[in-house]
Amino acid sequence: MSQPNSNKQEILLVSDFDQTLSFNDTGVVLSEMMGIAGFEQRVRGLADIRLVQQGGELPYLLLHDPEYRCVRREHLWAAGKRIRLKGNIARMLELLERLDALRFSFFVVSAAPEDAIQSALEGIVPADRIFGTQFRHDPQTGEIQSIVRVPAGYGKVVVVEELRALRNLSHDRVVYVGDGSSDVHVMLHLNRHDGHTIAVSENPFITQIAKRTVLSDDALAVLVPILQDIAGWNSARVRAYFAAEGLLLQNWDRVHTDWLTIRNAPLHVADAGGHAEAVQ
Ligand SMILES: [Mg+2]
Repeated sequence: MSQPNSNKQEILLVSDFDQTLSFNDTGVVLSEMMGIAGFEQRVRGLADIRLVQQGGELPYLLLHDPEYRCVRREHLWAAGKRIRLKGNIARMLELLERLDALRFSFFVVSAAPEDAIQSALEGIVPADRIFGTQFRHDPQTGEIQSIVRVPAGYGKVVVVEELRALRNLSHDRVVYVGDGSSDVHVMLHLNRHDGHTIAVSENPFITQIAKRTVLSDDALAVLVPILQDIAGWNSARVRAYFAAEGLLLQNWDRVHTDWLTIRNAPLHVADAGGHAEAVQ
């Protein structure tokens, strides 16, 4: 039995869904299931013209692309069941719950359709802890008529701020985990206010912004930066904690990555008249 929560410090832990808790984008899985080709090209086309917030491409297609008009709520739910999740999400939440000094409130905030996320995480994360894109469906046909909310880009900042304000927490008690460009706004926002940001991909847009980057197929990996930066544990204590839970941190390579591009450039020297010239 866990201790009463009253003396524990609350931490708001918010995670993206697509490629943060899963391996594939919901849009890819749904399109394959429905037999609709060219999802990635459509997303690239939308990204090029900057019509929608990054991450909000699937909701846009569901609402406006004639090929996606056949998608109903039951398809979103069925697609959720086909999404391959990262390992040990339930275990990660269970281990967080057992920490003595901290009480984690875990939420998923994602632009993926809320029905698909709820289906994918059924039995792991309660439905009321999941904030995805909500649609209005035609009551007769079930067709998607309009969008209620898209938590993509700046839309994620709005949802995270609502969750934080409800709990009356300062930003340094907020942790956000994400993988892609849809998470840039919320990470910049939290960094500016001393929040904690964790990237779980090598996407350079996000790794350059996030305070920590952790790469693993296993959701438990996120515990490492949380235990170090939030609970204040050193690496020996983190290793011991994992070992006590019967888990081995087999490869833990910490590298600080500097992203550089270096090209040959003409060398400029001043001539006798003080003019610069290029030396090839
Ligand atoms: Mg993502």
